[in-house]
Amino acid sequence: MPKTTTVIIGAGHCGLAMSRCLATRSIDHVVLEHGEVANSWRTQRWDSLRLLTPNWMTRLPGYAYRGPDPDGYLTARQVTAMLEDYAAASAAPVLTGVTVTSVQATEGGYVVRTGQGTWRAPTVVLACGAATVPEVPAVARLVPGGITQVTPAGYRNPGELPGGGVLVVGASASGVQLADELARSGRPVTLAVGEHVRMPRTYRGRDILWWLDASGVLDQRWDEVDDLVRARNVPSMQLVGSPGRTVDLNALSAAGVRLAGRLAGISGGVAQFSGSLRGVCALADLKLRRLLNTIDAWAGTAGERPGPTIVRSAPLGLDLRSGQIAAIVWATGYRPDLSWLDVPVLDRKGRIIHDGGVTACPGLYLIGTPFLRRRKSSLIDGAAGDAAELTRHLAGHLDALAGRRERSAS
Ligand SMILES: Cc1cc2nc3c(=O)[nH]c(=O)nc-3n(C[C@H](O)[C@H](O)[C@H](O)COP(=O)(O)OP(=O)(O)OC[C@H]3O[C@@H](n4cnc5c(N)ncnc54)[C@H](O)[C@@H]3O)c2cc1C
Repeated sequence: MPKTTTVIIGAGHCGLAMSRCLATRSIDHVVLEHGEVANSWRTQRWDSLRLLTPNWMTRLPGYAYRGPDPDGYLTARQVTAMLEDYAAASAAPVLTGVTVTSVQATEGGYVVRTGQGTWRAPTVVLACGAATVPEVPAVARLVPGGITQVTPAGYRNPGELPGGGVLVVGASASGVQLADELARSGRPVTLAVGEHVRMPRTYRGRDILWWLDASGVLDQRWDEVDDLVRARNVPSMQLVGSPGRTVDLNALSAAGVRLAGRLAGISGGVAQFSGSLRGVCALADLKLRRLLNTIDAWAGTAGERPGPTIVRSAPLGLDLRSGQIAAIVWATGYRPDLSWLDVPVLDRKGRIIHDGGVTACPGLYLIGTPFLRRRKSSLIDGAAGDAAELTRHLAGHLDALAGRRERSAS
């Protein structure tokens, strides 16, 4: 059975960032990857997707974007190439095509089983992605036959959907981007809107992410927020990677997208929408105002504010049997796949219980989930700080193990 000091599961940007930090401390490790490096970016992104974070924010341990377009936004293919180059430059010990099928605790560490053999290691880092399985609500089963159903992970471009109207469910980053793209392709689009995070692409003449970065909002730490559970479940920002272009609900309405409330159910083939659209928009406007207040306070002067979200009449029902809707896009979020984790660290909802990525099982770590250690933990730019801190903790754990072995030998 091969042995190493740390098994990292997953070769996305988080696994590679961890590998780089471990290598800096000469901690022997291996990165086991089910597909290839940057698998999520190769297999789960639609054709037109660009990062919503500007290129200058594409920073990893020992790497920063140095290309000609710092204010542009990388395509998924460019992200893949960047991560391949990063893995090569770091000489990351990645084994591709290796699927981890179980992780079990054992005397002094873990046994990691894969389709290609079993590893033993005192420490394991779960870098297997927080957003690898699209969440589809149970009501999807009630959609009448003949309507195509897709998730953002399976969607590629408007040409792949049948002609006709589209219902996009969910108005976070993926939902607003796809509603925008489908409306621009000439399709009638209805967007079901629940709680969302409104965000202008630019504010005070700069990309909004510049302000969030410079003012320290993205660096806010997990042990400083009042309601961490809530902070970890905040929807993604309504942003698209296109210079100066905002995709909030006002912009989508102007592009012809019909807004509806949250999809509450499907009964007798009729999609039923909540009457809460005005309320959720008012709440999103309020939260945006608070965020811009924080930025203004940091900048020392007031900026020019976007107007309120305008909600005209919103349908409460949509007959899915009427032929108006040919496809439904379930942009209702993502979750990790941890079905192979045989270590008692999951809560009732199947989420890993952890304190800033440190689990209750000594030597088992997690990286890459929302607000793991800072507000930007789920962004590429969040991996460097999180990986450095987790590596420090992991090294301390190894020292403690070595100390214990020495004491029991003497
Ligand atoms: C649609 C979308 C758009 C995003 N846009 C941005 C953006 O603009 N800017 C930004 O900074 N972030 C963005 N993100 C967030 C973030 O960068 C990604 O979620 C990122 O892919 C997460 O990185 P990761 O390394 O944690 O996980 P992943 O990239 O998902 O990597 C996990 C890896 O683990 C592997 N794996 C999983 N299970 C196993 C197993 N059992 N055995 C072996 N290997 C396994 C997978 O194959 C995968 O390669 C976006 C995310 C999504 C979903």
